[in-house]
Amino acid sequence: MAKIETVLVVGGGVAGLATAAALHRHGFSAELVERQPSWQALGAGFLVQANGMRALRSLGLAANVENAGTVVRRWQFFDDQGDMLSETDLAALWGDVGPCIGIERVKLQSALLAGVTEVRTRLGTSVISLVQGSGRASVGFSDGSARDYDLVVGADGIKSTVRALALTATSPNYLGAMNWRSIAPIHPAGLAGLQMFLGQSCVFGMVPLGAGRTYGFAYVALPRLHDAPEGRLGRLRNRFATFGARVQEYLDALERDDQVICSAMEWMESETWHSGRVVLVGDAAHASSPMMGQGGCMAMEDACVLAEELRAATTVEDGLDSYVSRRKPRANWVQQQSIALADIVTGPSVVRNAALRERGRQAMQTRFGPLVPPP
Ligand SMILES: Cc1cc2nc3c(=O)[nH]c(=O)nc-3n(C[C@H](O)[C@H](O)[C@H](O)COP(=O)(O)OP(=O)(O)OC[C@H]3O[C@@H](n4cnc5c(N)ncnc54)[C@H](O)[C@@H]3O)c2cc1C
Repeated sequence: MAKIETVLVVGGGVAGLATAAALHRHGFSAELVERQPSWQALGAGFLVQANGMRALRSLGLAANVENAGTVVRRWQFFDDQGDMLSETDLAALWGDVGPCIGIERVKLQSALLAGVTEVRTRLGTSVISLVQGSGRASVGFSDGSARDYDLVVGADGIKSTVRALALTATSPNYLGAMNWRSIAPIHPAGLAGLQMFLGQSCVFGMVPLGAGRTYGFAYVALPRLHDAPEGRLGRLRNRFATFGARVQEYLDALERDDQVICSAMEWMESETWHSGRVVLVGDAAHASSPMMGQGGCMAMEDACVLAEELRAATTVEDGLDSYVSRRKPRANWVQQQSIALADIVTGPSVVRNAALRERGRQAMQTRFGPLVPPP
């Protein structure tokens, strides 16, 4: 086991909570800082795919997620009017890896918090400085305190401060599409899994969350824009007004502008994931387009692999090298495939619909198949 007495995990999102839980489970003394003053889960719904559930199972957290969400059995593509283009049975795709679970982000966060009850966590605290010395990293916090650590894990998202302070000044890339996310108190008729309705340069998707609730997400290929909260729901309805009945049923069930979150879709590739006593996990290392719904699942896998490798290694350096070599090819695969999927889905609809009818299931197998074996 690498000799690490103190580990700081920066960020309390999916990556940070899973990493702190994994390090604690493997016998490391971790503490976590989160800059938000309270536990806030940004976003609406989330699909924890089978590989994410496998990671959570190893952390003892899978049952909480299953109980708080619902099993998603199929991944279906339709044209904008609701004619099916292809369907994938997720149990057949993933085999015995685990179920895929649709869950509200707040419930996922609660489930992950159960893994860090014995980890010291400080809310409302940001990392603002980081200087590396011999075998230590000295960290300064926004509350004026400072401390040295044997290891600092940057789990602080796509705009990572840790990455900028210790590694590189890489900036996120705009994917050329905006997204709108919401949860509606409805289970639309015929919603039997993850459904994506594909229009010209736009997609409307739905994921069941259980308890009569559904996550709706919309991706539209557009230059980056600011969509003011006032009138946002009306504009979203207008954008998808020509879509078929199931999308209309979902949009009709929304009542207020503040139910809809809008953000730009971005991704980021960092050549280097660790330097000295600093390492990155989750979006800080490899934020991807959300088209495969794998970013959070990759973060959960990162957490487990990092803790396993630090436990197996005799030095921190060896543990971090092994972590990066195990994780990078898989994370890169997801990034590349997500971008390819985004290009297909937002490409010319006639060509795309024909391709999905003919080869949709095979394409899903090709994209997700490499994620079936353990990381
Ligand atoms: C539209 C959309 C849909 C998606 N759907 C899915 C899905 O269905 N399934 C899936 O697996 N993935 C999905 N993803 C991807 C997933 O959301 C991300 O990959 C995942 O949330 C990344 O988690 P993270 O912890 O690395 O980063 P974040 O969630 O960004 O968390 C970073 C945390 O660090 C904190 N922080 C930042 N800076 C500091 C600092 N200096 N000091 C202290 N704290 C700091 C932040 O406040 C934040 O809490 C989706 C993404 C998008 C955009």
